[in-house]
Amino acid sequence: MEREVMEFDVVIVGGGPSGLSAAIRLKQLANEAGKNIEVCLIEKGSEVGAHILSGAVLEPRSLNELIPDWQERGAPLDTPVTADKFMFLTETGSFRMPTPPSMKNHGNYIISLGNFCRWLGERAEALGVEIYPGFPAAEVLYDDQGRVKGVATGDMGIGKDGVPTDQYMRGMELHAKQTIFAEGCRGHLTKTLFEKFDLREGKDPQTFAIGIKELWDIEPAKAKPGLAWHSVGWPLASDTYGGSFLYHLNGNQVAVGYVVGLDYSNPHLSPFEEFQRFKNHPSVRDTFIGGRRVSYGARALNEGGFQSVPKLTFPGGCLVGCTAGFLNVPKIKGTHTAMKSGMLAAEAIFEALDTMQAGDEPTSYASRLQDSWLWAELYKVRNIRPGFAKGLWLGLVHAAIDTYVFFGKAPWTLHHHADHESLKRASEAPKIDYPKPDGIVSFDRNSSVFLSGTNHEENQPAHLTLKDASIPISHNLALYDAPEQRYCPAGVYEIIHNDDGTDPRLQINAQNCVHCKTCDIKDPSQNIIWVSPEGGGGPNYPNM
Ligand SMILES: Cc1cc2nc3c(=O)[nH]c(=O)nc-3n(C[C@H](O)[C@H](O)[C@H](O)COP(=O)(O)OP(=O)(O)OC[C@H]3O[C@@H](n4cnc5c(N)ncnc54)[C@H](O)[C@@H]3O)c2cc1C
Ligand code: SF4
Repeated sequence: MEREVMEFDVVIVGGGPSGLSAAIRLKQLANEAGKNIEVCLIEKGSEVGAHILSGAVLEPRSLNELIPDWQERGAPLDTPVTADKFMFLTETGSFRMPTPPSMKNHGNYIISLGNFCRWLGERAEALGVEIYPGFPAAEVLYDDQGRVKGVATGDMGIGKDGVPTDQYMRGMELHAKQTIFAEGCRGHLTKTLFEKFDLREGKDPQTFAIGIKELWDIEPAKAKPGLAWHSVGWPLASDTYGGSFLYHLNGNQVAVGYVVGLDYSNPHLSPFEEFQRFKNHPSVRDTFIGGRRVSYGARALNEGGFQSVPKLTFPGGCLVGCTAGFLNVPKIKGTHTAMKSGMLAAEAIFEALDTMQAGDEPTSYASRLQDSWLWAELYKVRNIRPGFAKGLWLGLVHAAIDTYVFFGKAPWTLHHHADHESLKRASEAPKIDYPKPDGIVSFDRNSSVFLSGTNHEENQPAHLTLKDASIPISHNLALYDAPEQRYCPAGVYEIIHNDDGTDPRLQINAQNCVHCKTCDIKDPSQNIIWVSPEGGGGPNYPNM
């Protein structure tokens, strides 16, 4: 069956802060110039914001540039940060450390990034952007010269067996002069573009972390709206990068989360269980007592920074936001940089749109980016994250020297290794004995996933695909005790056996997937490939 084709000037893949900022900036420029351009944005979540999970403390720098009157327009930034605390935790105690300059949040806001994106989506639609939620871009389309000419949305109504059901609907082709990929961290189409156009050549590998988050309603007496609280130390071993965040919002809510660098080496480690343990630490447990957990989710984030940013443009389009990797790791912030990159891409494309042919490369985007505050910001902190490769203490000392002695201008750049290469053999790493959930502050995966509102059409091919179906048992189970059982925050991967313990097999509970992309990153032999499921499937985060 032929696919229907729709034509636009610009197609944007992904309705996060980067894609929405690109869409808004394009339309602003067109309106200022009295021109009409057709901009379409597609989003795989059931609505804009449904798949957005972040901390989040927003640095409003890009927002001030994009929509200077955001306050009058009702942007959902209602909790200014009033205090920062940076803590070191031991198993039973804690002490306060000096807040690093990058974690001082004066002038920033504690927000729900999902709700902020919903608001940006409304702004974009008011400017005339066509937004189609519930439509994943499943395939990049190329013209006969190999240039990107758009994307195709996924087919609907294909059964588990790969045969069309009576609900079958062919996907659509969205053609454009320029396609902007704004898929967020570990974009699955972006991965194919890296290969097609060698965009990562000469760059460091991208490195990642997994962030797991819950939202709690807490007792009013315990609320401290505006407090941004971070910790390092327990429960992670000092050779593992990571830490917690606890942000007090207005309305007696707390966003609590745990971030674990995916370069961890112990295959027995479970980021989910570390997070559950953390919430039982004496310095935070009481915050949750008498409260109610209202939401749960997880998402990968980039940690490679400056040295891992790929080539950003290719014939027919460009990469913006976390799919390229603009997160500032010491700040744990990527929203302002994602927005700025989207705005700069929009400016580069708009300037050239009249004269460019479909499939031309928007090259001025890269130079605009290198001339912007974003590039300078990432350059300055480029050595901080790789400085933690030898553990927490050396990392902290190195970070202090890099910040206070070299002011980010050290005459060297430290490098990264790919996260999937870092696991030790299971037999060489200590086992970790995680406590059972208490059902008050700590929970199991199933009840957690329930709170993410995750839903997938069950009768569809699994969107977690294996290049080689034998590797999970012959390689991953044999050498690493099947680490996917532990790093997946949604319990998607299970090793099952016959009743007598024989014949181990990998069971993939794809319907639980919260689209965090960790398996696609951490699988030691890069055997798991995440592809988009049917449109609208995945989490339905209300306000993460
Ligand atoms: C736990 C955690 C805490 C964080 N804390 C902070 C913080 O406090 N402050 C801060 O500034 N940043 C924080 N970040 C980082 C911040 O969330 C990201 O930098 C930011 O969301 C990146 O924006 P983006 O638009 O590039 O991608 P995303 O926000 O990931 O948005 C991408 C969108 O594209 C959609 N999409 C992806 N692929 C497709 C496709 N093929 N077709 C259609 N749609 C698609 C997704 O569903 C999603 O809606 C945090 C991140 C995490 C995970
Ligand atoms: S299956 Fe992969 S992408 Fe889905 S929740 Fe698990 S680790 Fe994340």
